[in-house]
Amino acid sequence: MKNFVAAFYGSFGQNKAFATIFTPMFIETSLGNHHHAGRKGQVEVICGSMFSGKTEELIRRLNRALIARQKVEIFKPAIDQRYHAKNVVSHDETVIRSTPVQFADDILLLAGNCDVVGIDEVQFFDNQIVAVAERLAASGVRVILAGLDMDFEGKPFEPMPQLMAIAEYVTKVHAICMKCGDLAAFSYRLSGEKSKVMLGEKESYEARCRRCFYGNKN
Ligand SMILES: [Zn+2]
Repeated sequence: MKNFVAAFYGSFGQNKAFATIFTPMFIETSLGNHHHAGRKGQVEVICGSMFSGKTEELIRRLNRALIARQKVEIFKPAIDQRYHAKNVVSHDETVIRSTPVQFADDILLLAGNCDVVGIDEVQFFDNQIVAVAERLAASGVRVILAGLDMDFEGKPFEPMPQLMAIAEYVTKVHAICMKCGDLAAFSYRLSGEKSKVMLGEKESYEARCRRCFYGNKN
């Protein structure tokens, strides 16, 4: 019996140590909806460079909410015409259209009684998006924002830093450096164009690691 207890606590201790050491990087959020005393909103940010799979991660989270029959809406800035008004989320017969909006405030008018609001290409919104995210979360909405955290010069891309500061959860996803194959956090612009917002064409950019980003600046 003593041995059993020792073995039990021994293995318990080991598992505990295991759990401590291998606590996974945040992937699944703790959702506020499972208590019945009203919904508890929250803000989640998915950030990273181009080609890092931000939109895919946003879609993964929204799809899971759809499967649970939650009411989901997706918004994106009207400035981003790359994908036009095409559907970005589909699950079986359920398809959600992403709605292009001109101003961040428009989202408040359009979000209705959503459980989950997804916002893509957040870096192209005005700073008002921060207040919008806070308002939505305060009213019980789970707000998931995806966007570039750095511009093509490696500088923080407003309003993303503000959103990262106020979010409960921030997930930074990475691309693969197109020069060396390391993890990449930077979006390197191949053309000499200097405007911050160059929409575009993915062929004008490469995902790069820090060394390849700063080492090969032309
Ligand atoms: Zn590299």
